[in-house]
Amino acid sequence: MISPLAGTTRGREVVGSGAGGDQTIYLDQLAEQVVVEHLEKAYRSGLRFQLISEELGERDFGGDALVLADPLDGSVNAKMGLPYYAVVLAATQGDRFQDVRLGYVQNLVTGAEFHAVSGGGAFRDGHPLQPDPPPFDGRTIPVVQLDAPTGVDPREGAARILARAEKVRQLGSAALNLCHAAAGGIALQVTPAPVRAFDLAAPLLILREAGGVATDFAGRPLEGVSVRLDSRTTLLASLTPAIHGFGLELLGARVA
Ligand SMILES: [Mg+2]
Repeated sequence: MISPLAGTTRGREVVGSGAGGDQTIYLDQLAEQVVVEHLEKAYRSGLRFQLISEELGERDFGGDALVLADPLDGSVNAKMGLPYYAVVLAATQGDRFQDVRLGYVQNLVTGAEFHAVSGGGAFRDGHPLQPDPPPFDGRTIPVVQLDAPTGVDPREGAARILARAEKVRQLGSAALNLCHAAAGGIALQVTPAPVRAFDLAAPLLILREAGGVATDFAGRPLEGVSVRLDSRTTLLASLTPAIHGFGLELLGARVA
């Protein structure tokens, strides 16, 4: 339902503002309707949970477990017709990163699916995700993917890392970026200014279950950070501990 409307005037029409604080465009609303329809079906089949979704906020489905939904991650890409956006779902038994039990990310353009079960591994299109580590010579990082919110000059916080990058990307879907960090294509994910932790809940589990490491910019662990809509964090993530450690070293951060 999303792809045919990507890049169209109808698709990018502003229809309100979401619980997450961003403008809601028609594509966000449509994607959320699809997610909610499926969750209503799950409810009717007996599942009980609390939904937190980016646009509508909280909705009670009669249980304590949380379902976090970002129905369209990479909205700006979808709005402009750039083919890199995803639906993101997480199921948690509490509201911190360490409580996330299931993470699911689907690229809505290619259909590629990433998911992870806490303690049960990470998967790509249903097969165990067992990536080869990105090449690293101890001096330069092959691909650095940078996320910086509007109004933030990313070079300020990340300058020393960018100076050691062979290539820098700014692809536009935080969830897909972390999945590709988990798959080894993005050697280091760099998020120098605080972003919504909510958006990272599912893909961080995928990265972790693939064997990757993630901290904030100061090298602090993220396990205890809240994944609710009002929580924010910086991020440094890689499949390879040596690349992550090199990033922290460049930042002058204390290694966790
Ligand atoms: Mg969204």
